[in-house]
Amino acid sequence: MTSHLFAPDYKPQPFWWERSPLSAEPTPDLPAQADVVVIGSGYTGLCAALQTARGGRHTVVIEANEIGSGCSSRNGGQISTALKPQYDNLRRKVGDQLAYDILKEGHNSLQWIGDFVKDEAIDCDFEICGRFYAAHSPGQFDILARSIENPPKGLETDAYVVPKAEQQVEIDSPDYHGGVVYPRHAGLDPGAYHKGLLARVRAAGGMVIGQCGATGISGTAGDFTVATANGPIRARDIVVATNGYTRGLSPWHRRRIIPIGSYIIATEKLAPDLIRRLIPTRRMINDTRKLVVYYRTDPAGERILFGARVSIAETDPTEAVPALHAELVTRFPDLAESQVSHAWMGFVGYTFDEMPHLGARDGIHYSMGYCGSGVGLSSYFGTKIGQQVLGLKEGDSPLTQIDFPTRPYYWGKPWFLAPAVRYYRWKDARAA
Ligand SMILES: Cc1cc2nc3c(=O)[nH]c(=O)nc-3n(C[C@H](O)[C@H](O)[C@H](O)COP(=O)(O)OP(=O)(O)OC[C@H]3O[C@@H](n4cnc5c(N)ncnc54)[C@H](O)[C@@H]3O)c2cc1C
Repeated sequence: MTSHLFAPDYKPQPFWWERSPLSAEPTPDLPAQADVVVIGSGYTGLCAALQTARGGRHTVVIEANEIGSGCSSRNGGQISTALKPQYDNLRRKVGDQLAYDILKEGHNSLQWIGDFVKDEAIDCDFEICGRFYAAHSPGQFDILARSIENPPKGLETDAYVVPKAEQQVEIDSPDYHGGVVYPRHAGLDPGAYHKGLLARVRAAGGMVIGQCGATGISGTAGDFTVATANGPIRARDIVVATNGYTRGLSPWHRRRIIPIGSYIIATEKLAPDLIRRLIPTRRMINDTRKLVVYYRTDPAGERILFGARVSIAETDPTEAVPALHAELVTRFPDLAESQVSHAWMGFVGYTFDEMPHLGARDGIHYSMGYCGSGVGLSSYFGTKIGQQVLGLKEGDSPLTQIDFPTRPYYWGKPWFLAPAVRYYRWKDARAA
């Protein structure tokens, strides 16, 4: 019934893997010991490893599946100032100064990743293209417009309101009631970015080994042993960088991370005139619905990549295509006949306080919980955790001052997700 939605060359895998396929290299032998073992080969793990390898530590990154096959080669490539809490809400919880310092980290991460990609000359289509945050109701437009008024000094961000009457400059969609443009937000090709990071870690002397899942950690700070599918490895320091894929290896983290599936489709190549009319400025786009929707053109400006949470329970990405396509067509009725060339999903790591967390527990370093905004944050905090392993002051972050919360009866399976999705659907539908 829905076969007309699928392009003849449809693939149930990330569009980004066309340019940057996952490596099929054979798994090398695991060394018996290292100074630093990093568990997880996404942006967090690789950025930590880059620091420790360049700092002269023998560094081994181990990855349960193909290198980079977690979120870091699957995401939408959108980069913002990223931290979710609003200043007024956060200051009530942690006080004025710490709230300021924490939110400043989000701003720092945006600036940092632009500088980093440039300094490292990573070829990943990084572009400061800006973001259009679209309001899905007149009431949400008012809230959005107010949200950029009078930011605390030091947390100002370039932003301006686009009323509905003028929104055609940004987007040709009947679904929206104006929005806000953040001109400094950026986009990149996540697969190419990951590939560039991997090359830099290896050039610095770090080993990165795929198909080598960690199954247990024993020992104490300074003398750990990591059990893996390929035998044990001893390490002075360990970094856990498993984010939304955190499972039984580290139960304490698992109780604090909520894995949530996010699903994306890529359209077939669209007519150049059509795509230029639909998204003239080629900005990153998301909207005010509680059930997050994010989309953009691909870097070549030929397709639209559209991501959302459309199912109540986790599902196969191919199964999600009809619902994702329907959401796309709500924004762009002209795409009713368009076909889908790729569909995929990945698990973002959410947290109960909507903030990332990094630090060390029982001598084990970790950074995770970017709540779906991890391209900039995981790179920035991964770098910081690598600096913390080296004992460098630059690795300090105000986020180490806050507790990493869990909830009673939460053991890592988000049983509350289905009712939450239903509730947000209802809320989004009635927002005025
Ligand atoms: C569909 C989707 C769209 C997204 N879009 C955006 C976006 O537009 N902008 C944005 O900022 N963020 C986005 N994100 C989030 C962003 O991709 C992540 O926050 C970021 O990639 C996290 O990087 P990471 O290295 O911490 O985790 P990951 O890249 O997920 O890496 C964790 C790795 O740990 C490995 N692992 C787990 N357990 C073990 C073990 N026991 N042993 C060894 N390895 C293990 C996993 O296999 C995995 O490869 C999106 C995520 C998804 C899924």
